[in-house]
Amino acid sequence: MKPEARARKVDFEAAAGELDARFASRFTVALATRDHHGHDEGWHPAAAPDGVLFATTTEDVVDAVRICAAYGVPVIPYGSGSAMEGSVNAVFGGLCINLSGMTAVLSVNASDMDCTVEAGCTRSVLNSFLRDTGLAFPVDPGADATLGGMAATRASGTMTVKYGSMRDNVIGLEVVLADGTVVQTGGRARKSSSGYDLTKLFVGSEGTLGIITKLTLRLHPIPEHVVALRAVFEEVGLAVEFVVLLMQLGYPVARA
Ligand SMILES: Cc1cc2nc3c(=O)[nH]c(=O)nc-3n(C[C@H](O)[C@H](O)[C@H](O)COP(=O)(O)OP(=O)(O)OC[C@H]3O[C@@H](n4cnc5c(N)ncnc54)[C@H](O)[C@@H]3O)c2cc1C
Repeated sequence: MKPEARARKVDFEAAAGELDARFASRFTVALATRDHHGHDEGWHPAAAPDGVLFATTTEDVVDAVRICAAYGVPVIPYGSGSAMEGSVNAVFGGLCINLSGMTAVLSVNASDMDCTVEAGCTRSVLNSFLRDTGLAFPVDPGADATLGGMAATRASGTMTVKYGSMRDNVIGLEVVLADGTVVQTGGRARKSSSGYDLTKLFVGSEGTLGIITKLTLRLHPIPEHVVALRAVFEEVGLAVEFVVLLMQLGYPVARA
């Protein structure tokens, strides 16, 4: 056991007893499941958690976090494990909370161009849900990631040149803190009172500050026409200069 873990008096066995009683088969210590959750798509050495919980509600997350807090057990949120930084690897062991079962699109407000989803909803599921609204969620990191994971990594993508990254498109969050407190940040109003921008604090925090359970996201109209241009450059630098020039000339580049 690592010294840091010992100092926190980690008692996973006791926590596992309570997790088992509360969650039954949705909590597992099966080796294959733990191994699957001990790495992402990056190169870092895998480190399996001691157990995995498949959460389906905010209440599940609250109860699991409270149990873990009582026994000093580390908690690692998990979306679809597509990140590259090794941030789901359980280097101190602990409980991995898999949110991929929380997939609901809770509301779509087409006139205000926003929506609220559960954290395990993926961007592709959201976009197929939106197909008859003329709206879309444009952040596309190239992986079929969960929107909670994308917020946690502040994901960007090829359309960020026009629409921004998760930093620009998450307008509110529901987050479970380390003691089980549920906080709401931001909201649907474009203008809200000034003060600390807690939404932006959580966006990019990679699961270290809390577990995102719901997100309110900005949606964008799908352009009526999109023109694709393919150009070949002899050097990467020339390609970059060309994109910069296009943007300086005011061309509305949607994807580069
Ligand atoms: C082929 C490929 C191409 C990519 N291209 C890009 C790119 O162009 N630009 C870019 O920015 N990124 C890119 N990425 C990375 C991408 O942003 C991440 O894979 C994605 O955002 C992670 O989402 P996930 O659901 O898989 O999260 P996971 O990998 O499961 O988790 C990532 C981190 O977020 C935390 N986390 C997960 N869910 C939650 C939650 N609900 N609450 C709090 N914390 C949570 C985890 O603990 C971990 O720290 C690429 C990845 C791949 C595989």
